[in-house]
Amino acid sequence: MIESFRKGLQQWYEFNKRSLPWRQTKNPYLIWLSEIILQQTRVEQGLPYFEAFSKAYPTVFDLASAKEEEVLKLWQGLGYYSRARNLHQTAKYIVEELKGEFPRSYDGLIQLKGVGPYTAAAIASFCFDEPRAVVDGNVYRVLARTYGIKTPINSSLGVKEFQQLANELLDSEKPAAHNQAIMEFGSQQCKPKAALCEKCFFNEKCYAFQKQVVADFPVKEKKIKIKKRTLHYYIVLDPQKRTLLHKRVHKDIWQNLYDFPLIEQPLKPSFQEIVKLLAKKGVYGLRQHWLWSEDPLVHKLSHQELSVSFTVLEVTDNLEEHKEAVHWSKLQFYAVPVLIQNFINRFKF
Ligand code: SF4
Repeated sequence: MIESFRKGLQQWYEFNKRSLPWRQTKNPYLIWLSEIILQQTRVEQGLPYFEAFSKAYPTVFDLASAKEEEVLKLWQGLGYYSRARNLHQTAKYIVEELKGEFPRSYDGLIQLKGVGPYTAAAIASFCFDEPRAVVDGNVYRVLARTYGIKTPINSSLGVKEFQQLANELLDSEKPAAHNQAIMEFGSQQCKPKAALCEKCFFNEKCYAFQKQVVADFPVKEKKIKIKKRTLHYYIVLDPQKRTLLHKRVHKDIWQNLYDFPLIEQPLKPSFQEIVKLLAKKGVYGLRQHWLWSEDPLVHKLSHQELSVSFTVLEVTDNLEEHKEAVHWSKLQFYAVPVLIQNFINRFKF
């Protein structure tokens, strides 16, 4: 079974592979860049980001010497901002500590910040032909279905079991092509929904297809608890269209991105609470305030559901000297969460 799957997979890949920019290179910097961008991101969504990053920072030296704010700005919209911060810190580490040279083995690569077993195996096999099997979401799905493995893929037992099977399946003569092939097969043929089983080269031997239980695989343990948060944003506006923008420095969602003054609580803040927030910022002269939209906006993150409202506070104070003041026309230069960017795009004076 292993041999026929391996061979069929490679033939399938020859005819079906997509031409993607990171498949045309063995440059570890570009492969690493693409892998970090593609974590938790679909290829179609990640592609323009890869193009923008490789154009703005063609080498690891360019990325290392960039300002973190510029990196976050270019990353805006991709989410999981810790990936962008790790990307930048790792680039600096490679330049400062490793003279710009990427480690050339799995064991060296896995030491890098933001690089886990999957990414280390991908770079080691794609760039240096090291026989390391990759196991990403696509590989989990393909193996669970073809072999009928019911161990949850997000359990520690599952992680071990799937890695072991992927290692056995790996074509150690051609690790790069094999790894690319199995991931591409998962993404294009053995899709999460609507797998193309009728036209699949492996359907006669595939456990899930034969038993007609394709949709039941892979099995996952339900353990993610979604935290609900309510954010009330305040858009302070002075007569010259300046507003207040604040850098989120704490360990929380959107660390090092900017947002507006905020009260986080389930209940709608009272007028006194709003005045108190302004006073804390050293701003007085509230002329009028109005809720931008009656219905709160619901924004979903991987582990959190945010209910968000925006209230405009027009003040008579001049904010020019305020340390957080930014003219409305300059907001575009700041890295902000996507929901803030959407508000900025839609807000009309
Ligand atoms: S038959 Fe269907 S479920 Fe099985 S490997 Fe092929 S596409 Fe995946």
